[in-house]
Amino acid sequence: MNIKVIAFDADDTLWVNEPYFRASEEKFCALMAEYASERDLERELLKVEIANLGLYGYGIKGFILSMMEAALHISGGTINAACVQEILSLGRQMLNQPIELLDGVKDVLEALKPKYRLVVATKGDLLDQERKLKKSGLTDYFHHVEVMSEKDEPNYLKLLKHLDIQPEEFLMIGNSLKSDVLPVLNIGSHAIHVPFHITWAHEQIEHSVDNERFRNIEGIREVLSML
Ligand SMILES: [Mg+2]
Repeated sequence: MNIKVIAFDADDTLWVNEPYFRASEEKFCALMAEYASERDLERELLKVEIANLGLYGYGIKGFILSMMEAALHISGGTINAACVQEILSLGRQMLNQPIELLDGVKDVLEALKPKYRLVVATKGDLLDQERKLKKSGLTDYFHHVEVMSEKDEPNYLKLLKHLDIQPEEFLMIGNSLKSDVLPVLNIGSHAIHVPFHITWAHEQIEHSVDNERFRNIEGIREVLSML
C-alpha cells in the first residue's frame, strides 16, 4: 500500500453520535405515545427523515424538522405549542451535547500524524460538524476537513482532486459500509470498516464486502498494526 492520505469519518468513528439520535427518538416516541405505538412512530419518523434528506441533508437540524413533520402527520395536525417546544428543545440538547471521543482515537491520530496527511471526511450539517470538531480538540491533527452533502463516488473523487492524490493513495476509515466503504472501493481507493454498536437504519446494508482493498477491524487501534 502506498497510502498518502488517510481520511476519517467523524460521527461514530471519531466520536459518539448515533446514540444521541436514538435517545432523542425515544423521547420523541414518549412525547407522541398517545397517538401511535413506538414501532409506528419510529417507522414514520424514519420515513419522513429519508424523504427529507434531499431537502435538508444529514444532521440535527434536518432531524428536528423531520420530528416536527412526523408529529404533525401522526397527530393529524393536532399537536400543541408545548409539544413543538419540546421537539425544539430535544434538538437543542443534541446540538449542545459534549463530545465523547471513542476509545483509541487520539492515540491513533497521534501515531499516524507524522507519517500521513490526515483528513476528516464527514457528511452532515456544516456548522454542527465544525462545532463538534472544535469541541473535540482534534482539529490540529487534520490537514483538511471535508463536509460532504452525500458520501458518494463523485464527491470522493472531488476530494481526491482537491488533495491532489491518486485513488490508490487514499484510505478511508469509518463506521458505515454504505458511506465510508463502498463508494471508496468503487473509485479504486482503500477502506477500513470500524463498526460502531449502533447504525442508523438508513446506513445499513445487508451484504458483506469482499475486496482486496478492504479490511474490517474491531476497534480503531487495530489500524496501527496495518499501516
Ligand atoms: Mg459515521
